[in-house]
Amino acid sequence: RVLTAPAPDVSETFYVFGTLLEVETHGVPEAQARDAMAVLGAHFRQMHRDWHAWAPGELESLNAAMAAGQSFEVDPGLAKLLQQGRDLACRSEGLFDPAVGGMVEAWGFHADTPPEGDPPSDAVVAKLLAGAPKMTDLTITGTTVRSSNPAVQLDLGAYAKGAALDLAEADLTAAGIRDAVLNAGGGVQVLGDHGSRPWRVAIRDPFEWGVVGAVSLRPGEALHTSGNYERYFDRGGIRFSHIIDPRTARPMRGVVSVSVLSDNGALSDAAATALCVAGEEDWPRIAAQMGVRAVLRITDDGSIFATPEMRARLEAVEGGFPAPI
Ligand code: ADP
Ligand code: MG
Ligand code: MG
Repeated sequence: RVLTAPAPDVSETFYVFGTLLEVETHGVPEAQARDAMAVLGAHFRQMHRDWHAWAPGELESLNAAMAAGQSFEVDPGLAKLLQQGRDLACRSEGLFDPAVGGMVEAWGFHADTPPEGDPPSDAVVAKLLAGAPKMTDLTITGTTVRSSNPAVQLDLGAYAKGAALDLAEADLTAAGIRDAVLNAGGGVQVLGDHGSRPWRVAIRDPFEWGVVGAVSLRPGEALHTSGNYERYFDRGGIRFSHIIDPRTARPMRGVVSVSVLSDNGALSDAAATALCVAGEEDWPRIAAQMGVRAVLRITDDGSIFATPEMRARLEAVEGGFPAPI
């Protein structure tokens, strides 16, 4: 009988779209894990180059072409991502809409550091709103992209991390890795169940130094949280979120964070953003249209609302938020 030591968990950290992205594999020999990580690293570098909204690269070139009314040839990966973004935008009734890059930039969020200086004037905001950029202005034919509206400026930040984790999951699966956890600022996705010890993810309590609860992710699930407590700036006692309400061309107000659990990273990420923008009456409809059921939404009056599907998955954590949910 040969006794073999269990394979160690292997982890690596990547830097993509201004976030640290950690990958940990479980249950495979270290050499196999490192080979898979090398493939991932190359893929992440490509995504960073092609999808970044404020660094030279493919997306910047596409934005320049669209502003000039020209069509532009993109990488097949980007074309696919844009198709997915347009579909998600439609299902969110435009509350998630990656075409609002001009608005995001005007509010100062096209930078790795918090905005400085004054927020845009009412006149600037009115102009942004009049431009009415929407994903439905895009025509995507194979890998050729054009926009009928020169105000469209793409910013994929609201679903790129989720989409990157979906692609990473596919890469790892192709490399024979069945068990892994992927973590990118505000988003976690898992493969497998960590040898019957599911990866447990805490949802932070934005009001206290604690957590609302934890969720044990099932194989293939993705949990994303969006809100106003990670990227924002304060002016005159008001907190401006980096999430823009496309209906007003101003940062969304009233929601502290939204967490969405689904079996797709891009979907969880896009829905978390859309449900921050959606109002009290609208968000359940938007969630249903987008096809997400497990949602936790925290508003700035301190209330926490969890859908039955989310409540069924939330586990108490010692020292966690004691409020009824
Ligand atoms: P995080 O960056 O913390 O993951 P989100 O997933 O909510 O947060 O993405 C927010 C980013 O998406 C913003 O920084 C901006 O680049 C972009 N964005 C802002 N508002 C919208 C919107 N309504 N629809 C689509 N993208 C948006
Ligand atoms: Mg996100
Ligand atoms: Mg998002």
